[in-house]
Amino acid sequence: MRKPIIAGNWKMHMTVPEARELINGILPNVKTRDSVEIVVAPTFTVLTSVADAIKGSNVSLAAQNVYWEESGAFTGEISPLMVKDAGCSHVIIGHSERRQLFGETDETVNRRVKAALKHSLHAILCIGETLEERKSGSTFKILEKQLSGALNGVEDLAGVTVAYEPVWAIGTGMKATDEQANEAHGFIRGWIRDNYGASAASGIRILYGGSVKPDNVDGLMAQPDVDGALVGGASLKADSFSRLVNFKPV
Ligand code: PEP
Repeated sequence: MRKPIIAGNWKMHMTVPEARELINGILPNVKTRDSVEIVVAPTFTVLTSVADAIKGSNVSLAAQNVYWEESGAFTGEISPLMVKDAGCSHVIIGHSERRQLFGETDETVNRRVKAALKHSLHAILCIGETLEERKSGSTFKILEKQLSGALNGVEDLAGVTVAYEPVWAIGTGMKATDEQANEAHGFIRGWIRDNYGASAASGIRILYGGSVKPDNVDGLMAQPDVDGALVGGASLKADSFSRLVNFKPV
Protein backbone atom coordinates (compact mmCIF):
# COMPACT_ATOMS: atom_id res chain seq x y z
CA MET A 1 0.00 0.00 0.00
CA ARG A 2 1.31 3.41 -0.95
CA LYS A 3 0.92 6.03 1.76
CA PRO A 4 -0.69 9.11 0.20
CA ILE A 5 1.11 12.44 0.38
CA ILE A 6 -0.57 15.83 0.61
CA ALA A 7 2.05 18.53 0.05
CA GLY A 8 1.56 22.28 0.19
CA ASN A 9 3.75 24.50 -1.98
CA TRP A 10 3.64 27.93 -0.37
CA LYS A 11 5.61 29.46 -3.27
CA MET A 12 6.79 33.05 -2.69
CA HIS A 13 4.29 33.80 0.06
CA MET A 14 4.43 34.26 3.83
CA THR A 15 6.53 36.34 6.18
CA VAL A 16 7.66 34.68 9.41
CA PRO A 17 4.59 35.75 11.45
CA GLU A 18 2.25 34.72 8.61
CA ALA A 19 3.95 31.36 8.23
CA ARG A 20 3.73 30.71 11.96
CA GLU A 21 0.05 31.56 11.94
CA LEU A 22 -0.58 29.25 8.99
CA ILE A 23 1.29 26.25 10.35
CA ASN A 24 -0.18 26.72 13.82
CA GLY A 25 -3.61 26.75 12.21
CA ILE A 26 -2.92 23.53 10.30
CA LEU A 27 -1.33 21.40 13.02
CA PRO A 28 -4.35 20.80 15.30
CA ASN A 29 -6.54 19.82 12.32
CA VAL A 30 -4.18 17.19 10.96
CA LYS A 31 -2.52 15.75 14.04
CA THR A 32 -4.44 12.48 14.02
CA ARG A 33 -4.11 11.90 10.27
CA ASP A 34 -1.46 9.20 10.45
CA SER A 35 -2.48 7.49 7.23
CA VAL A 36 -1.29 10.46 5.16
CA GLU A 37 2.20 11.91 4.77
CA ILE A 38 1.83 15.65 5.21
CA VAL A 39 4.44 18.02 3.76
CA VAL A 40 4.67 21.79 3.64
CA ALA A 41 7.12 23.68 1.42
CA PRO A 42 7.54 27.24 2.66
CA THR A 43 9.86 29.81 1.21
CA PHE A 44 13.51 29.61 2.37
CA THR A 45 13.37 32.52 4.80
CA VAL A 46 10.69 30.90 6.97
CA LEU A 47 11.97 27.31 6.91
CA THR A 48 13.55 27.40 10.35
CA SER A 49 10.48 29.00 11.95
CA VAL A 50 8.21 26.38 10.44
CA ALA A 51 10.71 23.66 11.41
CA ASP A 52 10.41 24.80 15.04
CA ALA A 53 6.63 24.81 14.87
CA ILE A 54 6.34 21.27 13.43
CA LYS A 55 8.87 19.66 15.78
CA GLY A 56 7.35 16.42 17.14
CA SER A 57 4.36 16.62 14.77
CA ASN A 58 3.32 14.49 11.78
CA VAL A 59 4.16 17.28 9.31
CA SER A 60 7.38 17.25 7.28
CA LEU A 61 9.25 20.16 5.78
CA ALA A 62 10.25 20.63 2.15
CA ALA A 63 12.33 23.24 0.36
CA GLN A 64 11.03 24.54 -2.96
CA ASN A 65 14.35 24.05 -4.75
CA VAL A 66 17.94 23.04 -4.15
CA TYR A 67 21.26 23.54 -5.94
CA TRP A 68 23.59 20.64 -6.69
CA GLU A 69 26.78 21.95 -5.08
CA GLU A 70 27.37 21.78 -1.34
CA SER A 71 28.85 25.28 -0.99
CA GLY A 72 30.79 27.86 -2.95
CA ALA A 73 30.47 30.96 -5.10
CA PHE A 74 26.89 30.43 -6.29
CA THR A 75 25.15 33.66 -5.33
CA GLY A 76 21.45 33.25 -4.70
CA GLU A 77 21.49 29.45 -4.62
CA ILE A 78 20.93 27.13 -1.67
CA SER A 79 22.68 23.82 -1.07
CA PRO A 80 21.36 20.44 0.05
CA LEU A 81 23.33 20.80 3.30
CA MET A 82 21.65 24.14 3.97
CA VAL A 83 18.10 22.96 3.44
CA LYS A 84 18.78 19.94 5.64
CA ASP A 85 20.29 22.24 8.25
CA ALA A 86 17.06 24.28 8.13
CA GLY A 87 15.04 21.15 8.95
CA CYS A 88 13.96 19.89 5.53
CA SER A 89 13.50 16.21 4.75
CA HIS A 90 11.98 16.82 1.30
CA VAL A 91 12.59 19.11 -1.64
CA ILE A 92 10.45 20.06 -4.63
CA ILE A 93 12.46 19.90 -7.86
CA GLY A 94 11.62 20.99 -11.38
CA HIS A 95 8.39 22.86 -10.65
CA SER A 96 7.02 24.28 -13.90
CA GLU A 97 7.51 27.82 -12.57
CA ARG A 98 11.22 27.03 -12.18
CA ARG A 99 11.30 25.60 -15.69
CA GLN A 100 9.32 28.43 -17.32
CA LEU A 101 10.51 31.48 -15.40
CA PHE A 102 14.00 30.54 -14.25
CA GLY A 103 15.42 28.49 -17.10
CA GLU A 104 15.43 25.05 -15.48
CA THR A 105 16.06 22.28 -17.99
CA ASP A 106 15.80 18.51 -17.74
CA GLU A 107 19.56 18.54 -17.26
CA THR A 108 19.57 20.95 -14.31
CA VAL A 109 16.58 19.16 -12.82
CA ASN A 110 18.56 15.92 -13.09
CA ARG A 111 21.52 17.44 -11.27
CA ARG A 112 19.26 18.71 -8.50
CA VAL A 113 17.54 15.34 -8.13
CA LYS A 114 20.88 13.55 -7.83
CA ALA A 115 22.16 16.07 -5.29
CA ALA A 116 18.99 15.73 -3.21
CA LEU A 117 19.23 11.93 -3.17
CA LYS A 118 22.93 12.01 -2.35
CA HIS A 119 22.05 14.02 0.75
CA SER A 120 19.05 11.86 1.68
CA LEU A 121 16.52 14.52 0.81
CA HIS A 122 13.30 13.07 -0.59
CA ALA A 123 12.86 14.54 -4.09
CA ILE A 124 9.38 15.58 -5.24
CA LEU A 125 10.04 15.69 -8.97
CA CYS A 126 7.56 17.83 -10.94
CA ILE A 127 6.74 17.08 -14.56
CA GLY A 128 3.87 18.08 -16.82
CA GLU A 129 2.85 19.25 -20.25
CA THR A 130 1.72 22.68 -21.46
CA LEU A 131 -1.72 23.25 -22.99
CA GLU A 132 -0.24 23.36 -26.51
CA GLU A 133 1.52 20.06 -25.91
CA ARG A 134 -1.70 18.45 -24.67
CA LYS A 135 -3.68 19.86 -27.61
CA SER A 136 -1.14 18.54 -30.08
CA GLY A 137 -1.32 15.07 -28.57
CA SER A 138 2.24 15.03 -27.26
CA THR A 139 1.52 14.76 -23.52
CA PHE A 140 3.02 11.30 -23.09
CA LYS A 141 6.04 12.15 -25.22
CA ILE A 142 6.73 15.18 -23.00
CA LEU A 143 6.26 13.19 -19.79
CA GLU A 144 8.64 10.54 -21.08
CA LYS A 145 11.25 13.16 -22.04
CA GLN A 146 11.00 14.87 -18.65
CA LEU A 147 11.17 11.57 -16.74
CA SER A 148 14.11 10.17 -18.67
CA GLY A 149 15.94 13.53 -18.43
CA ALA A 150 15.32 14.08 -14.73
CA LEU A 151 16.11 10.50 -13.74
CA ASN A 152 19.11 9.99 -16.02
CA GLY A 153 21.65 8.01 -13.97
CA VAL A 154 19.32 7.67 -10.96
CA GLU A 155 19.34 3.99 -10.09
CA ASP A 156 16.99 3.78 -7.14
CA LEU A 157 13.64 5.56 -6.88
CA ALA A 158 13.13 4.94 -3.16
CA GLY A 159 13.78 8.62 -2.44
CA VAL A 160 11.69 9.98 -5.29
CA THR A 161 8.04 10.99 -5.59
CA VAL A 162 6.74 12.18 -8.95
CA ALA A 163 4.30 15.08 -9.11
CA TYR A 164 2.32 15.22 -12.35
CA GLU A 165 1.45 18.88 -12.76
CA PRO A 166 -0.06 19.84 -16.10
CA VAL A 167 1.13 23.41 -16.61
CA TRP A 168 -2.30 24.50 -17.85
CA ALA A 169 -3.89 23.43 -14.56
CA ILE A 170 -1.52 25.23 -12.18
CA GLY A 171 -3.09 28.27 -10.57
CA THR A 172 -5.77 28.47 -13.27
CA GLY A 173 -8.74 26.82 -11.56
CA MET A 174 -8.77 24.38 -14.53
CA LYS A 175 -8.03 21.12 -12.72
CA ALA A 176 -7.43 18.11 -14.96
CA THR A 177 -10.38 15.75 -14.74
CA ASP A 178 -9.91 12.82 -12.40
CA GLU A 179 -9.71 10.57 -15.45
CA GLN A 180 -7.09 12.74 -17.18
CA ALA A 181 -4.98 12.72 -14.03
CA ASN A 182 -5.30 8.97 -13.60
CA GLU A 183 -4.46 8.36 -17.23
CA ALA A 184 -1.26 10.43 -17.02
CA HIS A 185 -0.32 8.74 -13.73
CA GLY A 186 -0.88 5.36 -15.35
CA PHE A 187 1.50 6.36 -18.13
CA ILE A 188 4.12 7.52 -15.61
CA ARG A 189 3.81 4.31 -13.60
CA GLY A 190 4.13 2.30 -16.81
CA TRP A 191 7.29 4.16 -17.75
CA ILE A 192 8.71 3.44 -14.32
CA ARG A 193 7.78 -0.24 -14.66
CA ASP A 194 9.56 -0.41 -18.03
CA ASN A 195 12.68 1.31 -16.75
CA TYR A 196 12.89 0.33 -13.06
CA GLY A 197 10.77 -2.80 -12.73
CA ALA A 198 7.46 -3.79 -11.21
CA SER A 199 8.32 -3.24 -7.59
CA ALA A 200 9.57 0.33 -8.15
CA ALA A 201 6.42 1.04 -10.17
CA SER A 202 4.06 -0.27 -7.52
CA GLY A 203 5.93 1.51 -4.72
CA ILE A 204 6.43 4.99 -6.13
CA ARG A 205 3.97 7.70 -5.14
CA ILE A 206 2.63 9.84 -7.99
CA LEU A 207 0.97 13.09 -6.92
CA TYR A 208 -1.32 15.26 -8.98
CA GLY A 209 -0.92 19.05 -8.89
CA GLY A 210 -3.01 21.74 -10.53
CA SER A 211 -5.98 23.55 -8.96
CA VAL A 212 -6.66 20.93 -6.29
CA LYS A 213 -9.21 22.34 -3.86
CA PRO A 214 -11.35 21.05 -0.99
CA ASP A 215 -14.29 20.55 -3.37
CA ASN A 216 -12.41 18.37 -5.87
CA VAL A 217 -9.88 16.46 -3.76
CA ASP A 218 -12.13 13.55 -2.79
CA GLY A 219 -12.84 12.39 -6.36
CA LEU A 220 -9.19 12.84 -7.30
CA MET A 221 -7.98 10.74 -4.38
CA ALA A 222 -10.35 7.93 -5.35
CA GLN A 223 -8.38 7.35 -8.57
CA PRO A 224 -6.25 4.20 -8.34
CA ASP A 225 -3.03 5.73 -9.68
CA VAL A 226 -3.31 9.02 -7.76
CA ASP A 227 -1.28 8.85 -4.55
CA GLY A 228 -1.74 12.39 -3.34
CA ALA A 229 -1.60 16.02 -4.30
CA LEU A 230 0.88 18.85 -4.59
CA VAL A 231 -1.11 21.98 -3.85
CA GLY A 232 -0.38 25.66 -4.36
CA GLY A 233 -3.22 28.13 -3.74
CA ALA A 234 -5.31 25.93 -1.47
CA SER A 235 -2.33 25.26 0.79
CA LEU A 236 -2.16 28.89 1.90
CA LYS A 237 -5.20 28.75 4.18
CA ALA A 238 -5.23 26.50 7.25
CA ASP A 239 -8.83 25.36 6.78
CA SER A 240 -8.52 24.43 3.10
CA PHE A 241 -5.15 22.67 3.46
CA SER A 242 -6.44 20.76 6.49
CA ARG A 243 -9.48 19.68 4.49
CA LEU A 244 -7.21 18.40 1.72
CA VAL A 245 -5.18 16.38 4.22
CA ASN A 246 -8.41 14.96 5.60
CA PHE A 247 -9.68 13.93 2.16
CA LYS A 248 -12.40 11.29 1.97
CA PRO A 249 -12.14 9.29 -1.26
CA VAL A 250 -15.55 8.80 -2.84
C1 PEP B 1 1.59 24.18 -7.72
O1 PEP B 1 2.08 25.28 -7.75
O2 PEP B 1 2.32 23.18 -7.61
C2 PEP B 1 0.14 24.07 -7.84
C3 PEP B 1 -0.36 22.90 -8.08
O3 PEP B 1 -0.58 25.22 -7.71
P1 PEP B 1 -2.20 25.35 -7.61
O4 PEP B 1 -2.66 24.30 -6.62
O5 PEP B 1 -2.44 26.74 -7.12
O6 PEP B 1 -2.75 25.09 -8.98
